[in-house]
Amino acid sequence: MRESTIGQAISEVKDNIRRACERAGRNADEVTLIAVSKTMPVSDLREAMAAGMIEFGENRPQELRDKQAEITEPLHWHMIGSLQTNKLKYVVGKTVLIHSVDSLHLAEAIEEESVKRGVVSEILLEVNIAGEVSKGGIAPAELEELVRAVSVLPHVRVRGLMTVAPYTENAEENREYFRKMKQLMVDINSKNIDNIDMDELSMGMTGDYEVAVEEGATLVRVGTGIFGHRVYTKSN
Ligand SMILES: *Cc1c(COP(=O)(O)O)cnc(C)c1O
Repeated sequence: MRESTIGQAISEVKDNIRRACERAGRNADEVTLIAVSKTMPVSDLREAMAAGMIEFGENRPQELRDKQAEITEPLHWHMIGSLQTNKLKYVVGKTVLIHSVDSLHLAEAIEEESVKRGVVSEILLEVNIAGEVSKGGIAPAELEELVRAVSVLPHVRVRGLMTVAPYTENAEENREYFRKMKQLMVDINSKNIDNIDMDELSMGMTGDYEVAVEEGATLVRVGTGIFGHRVYTKSN
């Protein structure tokens, strides 16, 4: 059987990750590839599943709910988009990791929903590492305070940090930001905050995931590089 285009793209991205790990002296199994399937039809997700993919990233709670209604196989769903507290019912207990927590208010709402559902939610704190006005994420200078505040929530577990680096044609331009993210995580861990021992770094997208891996990413979020270009309609 001929391998699907999506299947081929997945093997290529995985090869690139492996090579980036080799260059950086890292073990390839330290890096998890997340297929960002937002806006893509269920048939495309199924092609990716046929190629062995189980990690999927979505950014809209309702779209996640709709896809989970159709795909009942036990996948690992990641929430990577900005979140409103009234949508948490579609996310808490239905994802393995929430990447995009950037306020105490949101973390407390996740705590509350987690208690309701009897789960502990694993989260990442999103950092606006380049200080872009248009982007979500907390400023690096405010991170420690947020970590300390979230660390006392019993049903929320901080696993690490996430960033969406600036859009660029030249991935090298983002290397400094990825490096800063790694350093931020090391700095926070060195403070020995109770309940905080972070080891995940979600960074790198289609345009820059190889550089991100060289700089320590443990989770890379690749959409276009796997599924091709997204077509946005009014509903998404
Ligand atoms: C859409 C999206 C991605 C994937 O972007 P590509 O450039 O298509 O790989 C990764 N992370 C987040 C947060 C996104 O919203």
